[in-house]
Amino acid sequence: MAHESVLASDPVPPVEPLKPKSKRSHWLWPMGLMATGLAGMAVVFRGCWHRRMSWPVRAQGYAYQVCLGCGVKRLFDEDAFRGYGPYSYDLQGLIARDQARRLKQSQEPAPPQRTAS
Ligand SMILES: [Zn+2]
Repeated sequence: MAHESVLASDPVPPVEPLKPKSKRSHWLWPMGLMATGLAGMAVVFRGCWHRRMSWPVRAQGYAYQVCLGCGVKRLFDEDAFRGYGPYSYDLQGLIARDQARRLKQSQEPAPPQRTAS
């Protein structure tokens, strides 16, 4: 017991100067999301034609695409392999709208199917 090392064994690690890059991209990313979320409504119709859509993402039994330009979402038909329906930032709204539409379609008599012969 020569000396007490209570203060010497500080658990806080020293700041590492090698990691500013990852830290920076970490807070730049959500900031960009916030900006597109706030200014998104204007951006959609002004400059973005949603030509660059992401690969379909699955959520709640639905597949949807996200615009790489402005972040707008659109439902994706996995059978036809193409997007359908309106563009919206509100995925819940898109799903609710599509569910209501399918419910309506299932109540109507199915159209006669063409058999490709
Ligand atoms: Zn877009």
